[in-house]
Amino acid sequence: MARETVECLRQNGLEVIVDLEHAMDAWCGRVENGATADEALAGQMRAYLLKMAGQCVEQGVSRVVVCDTTGGATPEEVAEAIAGLRKALPEGKFGFHGHTDRGFGVANTRAAVLAGAVHVQGTLIGTGERCGNVNLTTVVGSMQVRGEAEFVPAERLAGLTGLAHAAYGAFSLDVPHGQPIVGAGAFGTWAGMHGSSEKKNKGAYLWCDPSVVGATPAIGVNGMSGRANVVLLSEALGVALTSAQAQGLMNENQAMIEGGGFTASEESFRLACMKVVGTLPNFFAIRSWRLSDELDETGGRFVQAFMTLSVGERVVVTSRAEGAGPVDALTKALRGELEKWYPELAQMKLGRFSVTAIDVSANDTASYVRVTVSFNADGHEPWITAGVSSDMNQAALMAIVDGFHYWMMEKGGSRERGRREEGVGTTS
Ligand SMILES: [Zn+2]
Repeated sequence: MARETVECLRQNGLEVIVDLEHAMDAWCGRVENGATADEALAGQMRAYLLKMAGQCVEQGVSRVVVCDTTGGATPEEVAEAIAGLRKALPEGKFGFHGHTDRGFGVANTRAAVLAGAVHVQGTLIGTGERCGNVNLTTVVGSMQVRGEAEFVPAERLAGLTGLAHAAYGAFSLDVPHGQPIVGAGAFGTWAGMHGSSEKKNKGAYLWCDPSVVGATPAIGVNGMSGRANVVLLSEALGVALTSAQAQGLMNENQAMIEGGGFTASEESFRLACMKVVGTLPNFFAIRSWRLSDELDETGGRFVQAFMTLSVGERVVVTSRAEGAGPVDALTKALRGELEKWYPELAQMKLGRFSVTAIDVSANDTASYVRVTVSFNADGHEPWITAGVSSDMNQAALMAIVDGFHYWMMEKGGSRERGRREEGVGTTS
């Protein structure tokens, strides 16, 4: 059957790459659930693998791919299998197909390449069955940066981070913070000690120059960071804080820092710095808000938000809106009034919304909730803001307010004065 299939494809002028499923199990003598086969069966399995691989090579396939279908192999086993097959079939060209089940996928792929495999299979960001196929951004970045293989032309490597982020976006996935090479944490430091040493000795805690893979080194602020990180990050974002101002920011934003809000959004951190140094224009502030959320016996739901806002220095307005849920109602109440003063807000949309409960086991339902919100506007890069509170609606509102402020800063808030001159007043 395999012979006829390969023959037919070759006769039709196609390049043939044969994936030998379970090849690593056959090489290692492993059966269901990774159990070890008895000696006789193990011998038969390896002999069959060699026979099939030999047949493929003889038929001139372009690659024979050794699959670690269960993700159960080790780098040592993979190196031995590739070397063994190459020795038995010197004419053959081999590839490797790995999975991440034991956490060895990338190490196994690397072992295969170093043992002479000329082809690797995986998925761009490691999506796939169970724990996923091998993450190619990790394989390509980690091996090529160190000169262990060349997968893409050298000048293209700098596109790796952008490509990965686009792929996560296409799947509506957040980029995992700790994802090697392409994650926000990949070249970041949150520990205060590392932050201050990074200033003196750049790159001391990094395995490669981030720019090679299109990444930017980050100094982050979370519960483990000290004032040094707050100062460094504020400098990097162009809103330099003094040590005392940094302490002020930390005191005022304890929940955001402990809940990873500033790790999730540099933009929210930048706005917090601007508040501390007094450079954030007084566009608007929420003075109070109230939600009414009713579910009646027939399953009908009625949610409305009430809000009192100050706009600019003096004007106080109230607003009310209904929504599909609390966050929707709050956002509509906010927009309903603010768009009269800042029409540019109509150009931006809320995109993805993600909610993370933090340390639930310690605090049960009173634990912090972190909400991150991404915003879009035509012709502008999306931006992400975050809020942390023990109340989900409040956390969402913090993120939304930051998102609005960001956009107003971008647009210069120029229309605001005009509207005020036209005499747009209090409404309810
Ligand atoms: Zn597979």
